[in-house]
Amino acid sequence: MEKKIKIGVIGAGIQGVCSGLFLQKKGFEVTLFDRNEPGSQAASYGNAGHFSPYASIPLNRPDILTDVPAMLLSSYGPLALKWNYVPKMIPWFLKFIKNCSTKNMMHTAKYMHQILDLALPAYDELFDEIDLSGLVENQGIMYIWNDQNLKSRELEINIRNEIGAEQQLLNKKEIHDLEPNIKKIYHGGVLYKKARHARNPGKIWLKLFQNFLKKEGKFIKLNIQDLNFDEKKPIIRSESQRFVFDKVVIACGAFSKKLTDKLYENIPLDTERGYHIHFKGCDHLISRPVVFQNRGFGMTPMEQGLRVVGTVEFGGLKNSLSKSRINNLISNAKYLLDGLPEHEDEWLGFRPTLPDYLPVIGPSKNYNNIFYCFGHHHLGWTLGAISGKIISKMISNEKTNLDLKPYSSLRFS
Ligand SMILES: Cc1cc2nc3c(=O)[nH]c(=O)nc-3n(C[C@H](O)[C@H](O)[C@H](O)COP(=O)(O)OP(=O)(O)OC[C@H]3O[C@@H](n4cnc5c(N)ncnc54)[C@H](O)[C@@H]3O)c2cc1C
Repeated sequence: MEKKIKIGVIGAGIQGVCSGLFLQKKGFEVTLFDRNEPGSQAASYGNAGHFSPYASIPLNRPDILTDVPAMLLSSYGPLALKWNYVPKMIPWFLKFIKNCSTKNMMHTAKYMHQILDLALPAYDELFDEIDLSGLVENQGIMYIWNDQNLKSRELEINIRNEIGAEQQLLNKKEIHDLEPNIKKIYHGGVLYKKARHARNPGKIWLKLFQNFLKKEGKFIKLNIQDLNFDEKKPIIRSESQRFVFDKVVIACGAFSKKLTDKLYENIPLDTERGYHIHFKGCDHLISRPVVFQNRGFGMTPMEQGLRVVGTVEFGGLKNSLSKSRINNLISNAKYLLDGLPEHEDEWLGFRPTLPDYLPVIGPSKNYNNIFYCFGHHHLGWTLGAISGKIISKMISNEKTNLDLKPYSSLRFS
């Protein structure tokens, strides 16, 4: 019998598990490594659960820079800093600013759209194999806004029209008809009809992982410290163990830089910290995710209750949870809905973000048997399956008909 090619995947978040499942489809023998149990506290557990194929417009846009001071000063706004981390992030901020030109924004929008457009069909290939009854809803996702910053909304609407992302503009009456419990503070909105939402991202992630195990995938619970090579074969190393593979995928989300630095590649990955809380028993108050754009937060009806999600906090991976950000979510939720009880479950998670808001998907610069799959920022939940599918095709040397160069880590060389 032909010996199977062995692939080690470091990180069993949604990116690692989806990569594992698609690699299995290609006939590889796959081992997943994670320091935690899949389904537990990572970004893939605590996100807003949006499957957002429309969301191709990045945060780096020409108008964002003028909005930043007001956002930072407002306790209701989405943006926050941990001041002790700001000096460490200056190089990242400078690259971010460089990417705020119209040209660079459109480049990112084009190449995010290229993969976002394929995101849901790729998930369907994985979801067809598991029972997800009641866990994925097809009610669309609604964004609402009041009359501030209308220029920003116009910009987004126009770009979506230009790149062909489907959207339905809503007036006040239409918003009220769809979500009658939301207080009428809004001016207008948009419905992305094709978008879906997860009623429990952690449970879906776990079900995908269990399917990976069922198909003879292996899982080893270990904190991976290093990577090196034995006659060119990559070795995954923990403090006391080593495992040799034919090829390795790094999919550690916001924590991937620790390993890519060891491969002599300086990829400017950092994190946008985000938060959630739950209002138990309140998921019936809305029928679909609602995002209030003026304050940059959203609410998703989930099994755990109404999940309120938001904040972009620059503060690295080590700082503790900011109570002020939890208070921000509570007051924002109460601004939109009456009668909410005490909140529960304060959660902090780490979005993996590159300063040009494109992920890194592809081979490493220095080693052609090491592949990267990380940096999916606000959209890593949506992009799990399609990124895993692309990685599986790259590793099996298959053509994709996609332009994959923009996702290469070489763009930072
Ligand atoms: C508040 C918030 C809301 C979000 N909402 C949405 C949304 O609605 N829609 C959307 O598409 N995206 C959303 N995202 C983004 C999305 O959640 C992330 O982009 C995605 O989950 C990243 O997946 P990942 O597998 O790359 O990383 P993770 O989920 O972080 O998984 C990485 C895994 O690697 C493991 N790991 C790390 N280092 C090591 C090591 N050295 N050794 C072993 N294991 C290691 C970790 O334990 C972890 O399990 C949101 C994120 C946040 C924080």
